[in-house]
Amino acid sequence: MRSKIAAGNWKMNLDKTSAATLIEGLSLDGIGDTKVIVAVPSCYLSLALESTSDSRIIVAAQNAHHEQSGAYTGEISFQMLQSMGITHCLIGHSERRQYNGETNDIIKKKIDLCLEHGLTPIFCCGEPLEVRERELHKDYVLTQLKENILHLTTEEVSNIIIAYEPIWAIGTGVTATADQAQEMHAYLRSALANHYDSATASKISILYGGSVKPANAKELFANEDVDGGLVGGASLKADSFNAIMRSF
Ligand code: PEP
Repeated sequence: MRSKIAAGNWKMNLDKTSAATLIEGLSLDGIGDTKVIVAVPSCYLSLALESTSDSRIIVAAQNAHHEQSGAYTGEISFQMLQSMGITHCLIGHSERRQYNGETNDIIKKKIDLCLEHGLTPIFCCGEPLEVRERELHKDYVLTQLKENILHLTTEEVSNIIIAYEPIWAIGTGVTATADQAQEMHAYLRSALANHYDSATASKISILYGGSVKPANAKELFANEDVDGGLVGGASLKADSFNAIMRSF
């Protein structure tokens, strides 16, 4: 059985006080075995770890560098994250691909380093609007899979979480329909089954990301291959993220 996951991505938002208030406001009461992950800015990792020490909220990093260590001023490494007790990291988010020039090659290196240090990558993929309009979204995302993660062994790939995030739906208020999400998630799972095997593919959680909110989470998460959400804007308010956690 693969995990149901509600993951929040705070991006570059919140000051220290509001970050602490938001974490304190999260409530996992009655959500069963749904996993809850919050990807916080790196300067709040310690704060988030401390304030979640008696809960099962998983604190994730939003990024780490693709080299082991060295003269990369301002960067943080997977080894640093591991030494702090961080267990998950976003990799390949479209905002990093777009604004930080992260290529498929860099993302592949990050995936490898992340796994090497025992962390779970939350691997993001998804197509831009013009690709969707040309109906090339499946090819586009398949290329991302091939160039980013399909070099992994069966054992390694079993340790990743995938987030399908159509770029046209991120932060725009436009959500993929439940059918569009299910179609792409099933396609991704079948690509994994073809490359590995169906038992492996059936164990990998595939999250949907792109303007998930309390009003649409239930409909999206009800789909067979949608195992939860990666949530940006709606994870910045405890009430809305608490509601999304309860949408399975
Ligand atoms: C995201 O940050 O990955 C995201 C999907 O953002 P939003 O929910 O705001 O669209």
